[in-house]
Amino acid sequence: MKFNTKNYDYLIVGAGPYGSVFAHEASKRGKRSLIIERRKMLGGNMATHKEHGINVHDFGAHIFHTDNKEVWDYVNQFTEFNGYINQVVANYKGELYNLPFNMNTFYQMWGVRTPEEAATKIEEQRKAAGLTSAPRNLEEQAISLIGTDIYNKLIKGYTEKQWGRKATELPSFIIRRLPVRYVFDNNYFNHRYQGVPVDGYTPIFEKMLDSDLIDVQLNTDFFANKYAYLEEFPRVIYTGMIDQFFDYKYGELEYRSVRFESKVFEVNNKQGNAVINYTDAETPYTRIMEWRHFDKHADDGYTILTKEYPQDWDRSKEAYYPINDEKNSKLFRKYHKEADALEKVLFGGRLGNYQYYDMDQVFNAALKAVEREFK
Ligand code: UDP
Repeated sequence: MKFNTKNYDYLIVGAGPYGSVFAHEASKRGKRSLIIERRKMLGGNMATHKEHGINVHDFGAHIFHTDNKEVWDYVNQFTEFNGYINQVVANYKGELYNLPFNMNTFYQMWGVRTPEEAATKIEEQRKAAGLTSAPRNLEEQAISLIGTDIYNKLIKGYTEKQWGRKATELPSFIIRRLPVRYVFDNNYFNHRYQGVPVDGYTPIFEKMLDSDLIDVQLNTDFFANKYAYLEEFPRVIYTGMIDQFFDYKYGELEYRSVRFESKVFEVNNKQGNAVINYTDAETPYTRIMEWRHFDKHADDGYTILTKEYPQDWDRSKEAYYPINDEKNSKLFRKYHKEADALEKVLFGGRLGNYQYYDMDQVFNAALKAVEREFK
């Protein structure tokens, strides 16, 4: 016994939302967990820190949004949300448009003033593009939802740099994440419950894991001692990359990575919005976040802006987005089958399940796993 020094019931690999919910719920049931986390902080990609009184999201903008009341009540045990509603502006070569696609966007693009005029315009463009059958990829899906003008100015360039692939090679579900609505409403999400924690996300994890029955070891790589961990612990909750767990034996799943560049300015307001997307193909970043606008109570005198650059993933970089195209989905199913057969190990989270999950979906999946584990 080198690692299971305290008779732990669970080894949890990864201190993101899936692993942290699991540890918290296990502790409420008197079970002891050791969480090991490769990175130096809690919260996975939800991690935040405070700088000049401003909550900065370390891994890109995270806005909590859900229709699931159970999940919403659950996270609200650990934090207060600030009521923030995301209203993204798109900059296409200097032209500004409201997102998601709504009557404001349609007016800005075409000068149309009524839902009927907008629908007619979109229908014309859909017909002209010759789309009659069910959309086979992101490009066809986008054009059939909002027409070619919006596709060309607001989607094609952004999508192709974000994913490093042609829009015709991407699955259509990715664009269906964004609402299309025939009302003047710039709310980026349709969900009933939305916001950002008043103190950032990291304190949620500090609270969740504050228990005598939970120990956390940061800077600890599961793969440095995988076989010993698997042997010593009666049960393992694994939230890392599923292909890495199996030593990439069927091949590597593909991911998309991003990198961030932040800068502090000694003014109160620089870009006038929390998120501005740059939707042309040439600008190397996809969006710029101005963190003080996520949080109305930030101190005066400073503002912090972060540019988000998409990049290819390799093993030296953080995996952000799974690429759920046909080829990768097929490979994932092979790993998933193998994972399912391992009785001792439960796979969860965005990387363990290779799913483009939002935060609420991860919380929900973890709560469901807890129900099954302790029924
Ligand atoms: N998208 C786009 N233009 C935009 C914003 C989004 O074409 O200005 C597309 C793009 O393909 C992106 C997808 O919509 O990957 C989903 O966007 P979302 O904002 O949900 O992505 P996330 O915040 O998860 O990166």
